[in-house]
Amino acid sequence: MILMKDLYKTYDNGVTALNGINVEIDQGEFVYIVGPSGAGKSSFIKLMYREIKPTKGQIFINNKDVSEVKEKEVPLLRRNIGVIFQDFRLLPKLSIYENVAFALEVIEESPRNIRKRVMEVLDLVGLKNKARFYPSELSGGEQQRVSIARAIVNHPKIVIADEPTGNLDPETSWEIMRVFEQINNSGTTIIMATHSKEIVNTIKKRVIAIEDGEIVRDEQRGEYGYES
Ligand code: ADP
Ligand code: ADP
Repeated sequence: MILMKDLYKTYDNGVTALNGINVEIDQGEFVYIVGPSGAGKSSFIKLMYREIKPTKGQIFINNKDVSEVKEKEVPLLRRNIGVIFQDFRLLPKLSIYENVAFALEVIEESPRNIRKRVMEVLDLVGLKNKARFYPSELSGGEQQRVSIARAIVNHPKIVIADEPTGNLDPETSWEIMRVFEQINNSGTTIIMATHSKEIVNTIKKRVIAIEDGEIVRDEQRGEYGYES
């Protein structure tokens, strides 16, 4: 369902972040992307939701070449892909409810459906009772759970997370991983870049290691493989 064919990314400054990536990821897989800083993990992830375009090569999501998607169709593409960042990226002036509802309001869902779905996902991440709070009133782990709720509110087939536990303490990180596992168990593909050796070596999943813009390892139930 995700297919990268001979993918290259060179930035305007001449830095080549991805140097011939070939990979296939099936619907429902849980994949960790690991590798040293600067290896190309973020670039790999950004290509999938068309934050950046490849210099060369193709990336198909559900048989559609993402790099060919027209600018005005990018929002449509993103509706099928939930994205989660290390720094949460919630809108500070909107309540938790509004942060999650926002993604549905853009697609003109009925108010009744919006309310139902928002409370459903807030319940899933254990924050139903904080719907009226504002991001600044929540802990880091809670904010990340809101950003997960926001990412899945449209029922995306794919959830992409770029170091989602990077700003969280270990205990909170495990809670976030439980939520990801739950989402994955319902059939959603999860692709997660991480520097957490503990998580990768404990919750065993497919591991794709990137170094200097190339895939150097791709193993089912793989190990983290780096010291830290
Ligand atoms: P990682 O996520 O593994 O740290 P990145 O994909 O962020 O790797 O970066 C890969 C390489 O591309 C690095 O050398 C980085 O400095 C460079 N890079 C990333 N984004 C940009 C950009 N917008 N412009 C220029 N170079 C970039
Ligand atoms: P990450 O946590 O993904 O490694 P970075 O701190 O490397 O993030 O990058 C933060 C932002 O700056 C990203 O949007 C990335 O694309 C951009 N960036 C990274 N390296 C460079 C670079 N050498 N030149 C310009 N932009 C860069």
